[in-house]
Amino acid sequence: MDKKGNLIVLSGFSGVGKGKVSKMLVEKYDYALSVSATTRSPREGEVHGREYYFLDKEEFLASVEKDGFIEYATYVDNYYGTPRAYVEEKLSRDQSVILEIEVQGALSVKKQYPDAILIFITAPSVEELKDRLTGRGTEAEDVIRARLQTAVRESGYIDQYEYIVCNENGKVEECVDQIHHIVESRNMLVSNQKNFIHVLKEELTDYR
Ligand code: 5GP
Repeated sequence: MDKKGNLIVLSGFSGVGKGKVSKMLVEKYDYALSVSATTRSPREGEVHGREYYFLDKEEFLASVEKDGFIEYATYVDNYYGTPRAYVEEKLSRDQSVILEIEVQGALSVKKQYPDAILIFITAPSVEELKDRLTGRGTEAEDVIRARLQTAVRESGYIDQYEYIVCNENGKVEECVDQIHHIVESRNMLVSNQKNFIHVLKEELTDYR
């Protein structure tokens, strides 16, 4: 069957566990994961070039000027952007790439790459979301509040996603497998297997 690189866009409310889900998709199913640039400060344990490229505002805007990002957006007073070179290189080699980005960025990617698969990850309830944000212990009370307020705005965009997947407590692997199945089934669409079908038909002409 034809193998093509997919652009998989994962979004979800802050604290829902997107980072863990993306990491497991890379480990279990060998997806490539795009590392974004951001102007926010590193959290404890975050490493430049691994979780993010941590840039100052001038560096970030210089990269915007050079068309270095596929998309960029502001989120709770900081810039976040998807570096263009990595994504284009992976797609040109038919490798699937995951972008873990917020809603404005996701919709902008979909405009530029209509085949991109937009998946929204949610927690089972808002109560649980808040518990996870509080439990993370890395954010001040006002930042948690700002992130929940952002969630209110983001919830207005869910309808524009194609899939919604629930990351339930203790069931992260289920969520990871569901995302992988979504991507696999997308590849099995007849419209994504044009070359393969063409070859099959050619081979069958011998039996006419
Ligand atoms: P955090 O500060 O918690 O790491 O990320 C905040 C939000 O920014 C998350 O919703 C995350 O998905 C999003 N984000 C991370 N990288 C990018 C990016 O390159 N572009 C956009 N538009 N959003 C991003």
